[in-house]
Amino acid sequence: MKCLHDAPKPHFVLVPFMAQGHTIPMIDMAHLLAKHGAMVSFITTPVNATRIQSTIDRARELNIPIQFVPFQLPCAEVGLPHGCENVDKVLEKDKVKKLTDAYSMLHEPLVLYLREQNVPPSCIISDLCQPWTGDVARELGIPRLMFNGFCAFSSLCRYLIHQDKVFENVTDGNELVVLPGFPHHLEVSKAKSPGNFNSPGFEKFSEKILDEEQRAEGVVTNSFYELEPLYVDAYQKRIGKRVWTIGPMFLCNTDTSTIADRGAKASVNEKHCMEWLDSMQRGSVLYVSFGSMARTVVSQLEEIALGLEASKRPFLWVIKYDDRPSEVDKVLPEGFEERTRGRGLIIQGWAPQALILSHPSVGGFVTHCGWNSTIEGISAGLPMITWPHCAEQFLNEELILNVLKVGLAMGVQSITNRTMKPHEISIVKRDHIERAVVELMGEETGANERRIRARELKEKARKAIDGGSSYSNIRQLIEYIMNRGTHTGVL
Ligand code: UDP
Repeated sequence: MKCLHDAPKPHFVLVPFMAQGHTIPMIDMAHLLAKHGAMVSFITTPVNATRIQSTIDRARELNIPIQFVPFQLPCAEVGLPHGCENVDKVLEKDKVKKLTDAYSMLHEPLVLYLREQNVPPSCIISDLCQPWTGDVARELGIPRLMFNGFCAFSSLCRYLIHQDKVFENVTDGNELVVLPGFPHHLEVSKAKSPGNFNSPGFEKFSEKILDEEQRAEGVVTNSFYELEPLYVDAYQKRIGKRVWTIGPMFLCNTDTSTIADRGAKASVNEKHCMEWLDSMQRGSVLYVSFGSMARTVVSQLEEIALGLEASKRPFLWVIKYDDRPSEVDKVLPEGFEERTRGRGLIIQGWAPQALILSHPSVGGFVTHCGWNSTIEGISAGLPMITWPHCAEQFLNEELILNVLKVGLAMGVQSITNRTMKPHEISIVKRDHIERAVVELMGEETGANERRIRARELKEKARKAIDGGSSYSNIRQLIEYIMNRGTHTGVL
């Protein structure tokens, strides 16, 4: 067995899927691997690299062994406009398909690039949605590990649903089906479960994902063992390979600017935002945000505004209405900002979320239950109001409410996604929002118990990354790759 500090550095190649919720945790992963002595090549594209320019510059300044490698994406060849390199730039399914085609065309350039490196690659860790990287890894004779941006609870659900074709004969999307093979009774519906690129046109891509999932040498997740041991064990057993839980990965970032600029430059002056939070009472502020992809329609914005106003609680609300932030003022209820001045702060666009959540004045989180937001909320010890929109978010809600018991449901029953027209979306009404906010932020027994449990999870999360289970898992992962003998080209 080689010792980590006297052996040559293993070289990890990270290939994220280009959507903020997928890229951000892989940037954290790059920093985590580097911190533990590995070198990293992080594959990106010019437009995506621009978004994270400050992260790239900082890595260079601080001599962090992460190389950000931008590959030109062949957009024109697949019929996409120039610069259309991220999923948040496309709404139509056929364009998403084109984007995945363009990414798979990076196969050859990536092989060529990696063959030329002084330190040969030891391992590829790539997103579930970049299945073509399995072929690259085989061509180079190195292992591919799959990064699954879900928690183990939702990963296991997703795996069972797709491998066992649970919804094959289900025609009604809302029909509840008992999930066979799950560690306990769990009912799922097709509408509220993660798809696997099931739309027409995606058949081959979806098959490739499932095939490469089988062939991957292991799975890496942004969760920690103590959070969901039952599901980590069951998932590992079911897929028959190692699941490395190495999260919460973002906790490896210690300097404030790295945390503030995660994913993109914040559209608010971070100092102003922190000063505002400093001026509020401890645990009093509710943070409201629905992740990177969701866009809230005007009628819903109005209800949220009036619900927050009626709750009389301080709030920090991140609004993503459309991609023209200056329009937001025009669509909020008249006089709303004046009436809530002093106790409400609105951020239009990109917020320094991880920084905000860890501020002691924040006491609750209204979340869409994307996994990154969820694990960030858990790491900050915050009770949450769950407002899932789509993908695996309804499953994460189940974990938050019924397993971890740190949440309160907004009671959303149907999905909302970016491709839906405003009239197709079920709007949550202001009085409903007001009630949930008052209950979460209040002093009733239930609210206090939720808070205590959330604080306990925060402790566990920090312990996991700070010498605990996630710390040993990342060490073991690096050692596993080194002992496998591929990292210096010695096979
Ligand atoms: N995020 C952020 N500022 C924003 C919106 C999102 O920093 O204004 C980050 C958030 O902290 C999280 C990620 O973007 O790390 C969103 O991932 P998540 O899985 O929660 O949701 P998704 O965007 O994939 O729906």
